[in-house]
Amino acid sequence: MSEQYLKVGSYTPETETQEAVIDRAYYRQGWICKDEEAFLFYPDRVCYVPELSDGGYTRQDFLDMCNGQEDIAALLFDMVDWQHPETLLNELYDTYELDFCPVCQKIYCMMGEQIPCPVCGTNPEEVENADTESERRPAEPGGI
Ligand SMILES: [Zn+2]
Repeated sequence: MSEQYLKVGSYTPETETQEAVIDRAYYRQGWICKDEEAFLFYPDRVCYVPELSDGGYTRQDFLDMCNGQEDIAALLFDMVDWQHPETLLNELYDTYELDFCPVCQKIYCMMGEQIPCPVCGTNPEEVENADTESERRPAEPGGI
């Protein structure tokens, strides 16, 4: 038996004689197109169309916004259900699902609780705070 891939609605790419045809279907929260097979095997094919825009996204688009990390791109593709992937990605950062390690230059999963980078132990929050602290407060003149 062949594996079943998630397929929501359909997206027919434009041709010389016809514009792209977007046939949305309802999925979790909104009307979208989502094509898991295209995401997994056809990097240049549109695999996702959000509810409020006709701009299609390819696997490459997901990879580009996920620092080229396939695991994060797959996570984002799996979770997105009506919004723009960029919007969801920002939400994931805001809710501590994901963070970016400035040392490893990698995105990592936190699952709702802020944790340091599992690879090198850097806490991006501390790094950011250290930066803003020094910007805000110039070095104090010696002594009190
Ligand atoms: Zn790190």
